[in-house]
Amino acid sequence: MCGIVGYIGHREAYPIILKGLKRLEYRGYDSAGIALFDGNDIKLSKTKGKVADLEEKVGKEIPTSATLGIGHTRWATHGVPNDVNSHPHYSNSGNLVIIHNGIIENYESLKKELIKRGYVFKSDTDTEVLVNLIEDVKKNENIKLGKAVQIALNQVIGAYAIAVFDKNKPNEIVVARLGSPLAIGIGDDEFFIASDASPFIEYTKNAIYLEDEEMAVIRRDKGVKVRKIKDDSLVDPYVQELQLNLEQIEKGGYDHFMLKEIFEQPSAIRDTFRGRMLPNEGIIKMSGIEDNMKTFLNANRIIVIACGTSWHAGLVSEYIFEDLARIPVEVEYASEFRYRNPVITDKDVVIAISQSGETADTLAAIKLAKSRGAFVFGVCNVVGSSIARETDAGAYTHAGPEIGVASTKAFTTQITVLTLIALRLARAKGTISSSEFRHHMIELELIPEKVKKALESDAYVKTIADIYKNSKNFLYLGRGYNFPVALEGALKLKEISYIHAEGYPAAEMKHGPIALIDENMPIVVIATKKGHYEKVVSNIQEIKSRKGKIIGIVTEGDEQVRALADHVIEVPETIESLTPLLTTIPLQLLSYHIALMLEKNVDQPRNLAKAVTVE
Ligand code: GLU
Repeated sequence: MCGIVGYIGHREAYPIILKGLKRLEYRGYDSAGIALFDGNDIKLSKTKGKVADLEEKVGKEIPTSATLGIGHTRWATHGVPNDVNSHPHYSNSGNLVIIHNGIIENYESLKKELIKRGYVFKSDTDTEVLVNLIEDVKKNENIKLGKAVQIALNQVIGAYAIAVFDKNKPNEIVVARLGSPLAIGIGDDEFFIASDASPFIEYTKNAIYLEDEEMAVIRRDKGVKVRKIKDDSLVDPYVQELQLNLEQIEKGGYDHFMLKEIFEQPSAIRDTFRGRMLPNEGIIKMSGIEDNMKTFLNANRIIVIACGTSWHAGLVSEYIFEDLARIPVEVEYASEFRYRNPVITDKDVVIAISQSGETADTLAAIKLAKSRGAFVFGVCNVVGSSIARETDAGAYTHAGPEIGVASTKAFTTQITVLTLIALRLARAKGTISSSEFRHHMIELELIPEKVKKALESDAYVKTIADIYKNSKNFLYLGRGYNFPVALEGALKLKEISYIHAEGYPAAEMKHGPIALIDENMPIVVIATKKGHYEKVVSNIQEIKSRKGKIIGIVTEGDEQVRALADHVIEVPETIESLTPLLTTIPLQLLSYHIALMLEKNVDQPRNLAKAVTVE
């Protein structure tokens, strides 16, 4: 899941690549490295740790005259995170240098072959195998780098986005992709390479997103030539105009991306429904749904596939779809679904959810569902991502770039899109009346302002964080629509503070977790007025009898829970189906403040990465 960056043109390559790596650090931060060609030789520097460590290590060593280079920020899959395993990797001759995002699954057998032929390996990575395989092919066949890359990749099983250059041909970089994203920014006689467009957004708005099984030779003088890796046929690439702007990918005055993204939720949610929902006219319009209305209405069921936070958004959608549109829903972990032998028919609609649109397991699950005849609809945030391209139709969340590794605004905007879809289908099926339909839309339109209000609890949530920051365990409880919110609250805390937390349906507590409760256990209970309130109040009583510390998430003006709980955090009132959009806010803030107080790296928690492009 690494980030890769490259530059070939007329400017100094180092600052462009370094800045690009900082923007891609969300993809991995086990190590960072850079290789530049200074006109004579390759200058390579790499180190375990962050891009800032690389910057320090490089110091004044790097030639500022270099106008060609590649850089990498790693999320290790093969070999521990250390200096030697860091990218870029040289081939044995020292002529070729490569960066790679992905996994070469058959690297062991390839490595054995290469060792037999005299190759030696310094690192434990699969990547070093690939660069030597390319070198071997090039040498044996006496061919150009592009051709050698192509022949080598045809022997490879796995996933990759690579960039490689040859110091004897310092006028070109060869790139290729299968399963990992790769964008090429097109400037005036200069070209940028990156895992997403953020590293080059201030230089050009024109980009080519390579498709799977495509490669490109990028030459300073001749531009970009794209080919199919398998059959060598030339491809006429689509040059996309980027909508992203620089401000969207910077912190904008906040200390962390995560905090910025939490506070962006009012506008992100509004952007999600803007232009799609017209409450006054009683209309919800989404082309992906309108164009496929028959398929949705004839569906026997909806299968939602996702991972992590997106899976939690999927769980919320199960309640919405069943409640409003009366369509049976199953929510599946993509990683389980793809390796089962699931029963799927052409009467199934699959909704695949992924912020990045690159999640490897979700992509594989989509392919499986499609091969069995299901119609697949994608919900993702990153425009032009693999999932957006692989699915039959879809809807973007339009949340803007999410850089913080722990997902926040992606979650609430996914719920928003799924709510719009459920409402549209419910109306088309006639399972809700036109006045209910309108009422839901009016309530959804009010959500951004209510999220803003919920965010006002920030200072108070911080005081609660301070009280419980040293707790070893947390429980999160919720019922109905707010059960997935409890799961998501627990996940957020685990991800960034490394405190063990579990989410449970409140009533399930009696079947096990209640044994954990004592006076040291903080329990976050979502107890909004709409949604099994009385039942949750009873659960709170049960916790109180066991002396657990209760943090209630309640509706404004609540008195009953306030009388029982140790702390209450209020959120504005809304209809039941929309409560997750509000109750999740204080839970995001709670985990943020606890992690910060524990001096954890909020934006880049250990062992995680933003786009999980490995299975
Ligand atoms: N497999 C390569 C390594 O371990 C690249 C890892 C990745 O893309 O996450 O170095």
